[in-house]
Amino acid sequence: MLSLPDPQSAAEWCLQQRAQNKTIGYVPTMGALHRGHLSLVERAVSENDITCVSIFVNPLQFNRSDDLQKYPRDMERDIALLESGGCDMLYSGTLAQFFPQEADTEALIEKFQHASNEELSVANRCDALHGLESEFRPRHLHGVWAIVERLFTTVGPCTAYFGEKDFQQTLVVKELAKQFTDINVVVCPTIREASGVAMSSRNSHLSDEQMHTAAKLYQSLLEAKKAWHAGVRAASELETIMRTQLDDANIRVEYVAVRDETAWRESSPDFTANDSTQHARALVAAYVGEIRLIDNIRLE
Ligand code: AMP
Repeated sequence: MLSLPDPQSAAEWCLQQRAQNKTIGYVPTMGALHRGHLSLVERAVSENDITCVSIFVNPLQFNRSDDLQKYPRDMERDIALLESGGCDMLYSGTLAQFFPQEADTEALIEKFQHASNEELSVANRCDALHGLESEFRPRHLHGVWAIVERLFTTVGPCTAYFGEKDFQQTLVVKELAKQFTDINVVVCPTIREASGVAMSSRNSHLSDEQMHTAAKLYQSLLEAKKAWHAGVRAASELETIMRTQLDDANIRVEYVAVRDETAWRESSPDFTANDSTQHARALVAAYVGEIRLIDNIRLE
């Protein structure tokens, strides 16, 4: 596996590959890789001539600097995992390299930590930048938009693989990809521990007992799904079912929500119309100890 230190050399390498008519599969990550990431790599390897992965802990998507500092990092282990996973090229870079036109990257970080969603240049480009994650982690998805725009510009035409675990992020990224020619976004299923806990780099901060508690998030989503299959269609009723489960486990909930994937901003979607049931999704964000976890499932 080739390891490139900056986006400029990665862009050149990708150009050379396409000049040889090779298709590129691309998996953007923040590292501290787990089986969830590796499932995206595996899919990219199986569907493309070559696969490239980026590892960059993007400071613009952390609205708290302590969270950024504590984010797990293990480059050596990541490189070994990617090599055995069949990745052809890994690249990274610094914020200054991704944003060469910004004279002061510290000021850029400051802006993404303190501005209102509306003040950011990427603000409100699409419905998915509103509500849920954007309400509770202001500027987070705007920071995702800003970096993924750079990552896509670096790699160019490709098929890019994202995890359904970060569902709202996949909506944002699909919208962003429309600005590019020939960037195809593929959303891959959430990989879980046997207990049902969605794999996440942040899980490394949880104790065994906390991992046990974290399984309640998935259980609450399954309860909502069970009620859905029993005929419950009112978003508020489904949300109460989830919240009760989490309250009973003493989990600090940020949000539980049932949304129509195609009408993101509706907070109480009407699922009585025939074709909207396919798009019903239950989502949760909650704290186990100090660690914020998110998860979601399709209800139909
Ligand atoms: P991250 O390193 O957290 O930015 O994640 C990089 C990519 O891996 C994103 O597209 C995530 O949605 C995806 N991902 C993270 N966890 C999982 C998981 N448990 N299953 C599938 N994909 C995941």
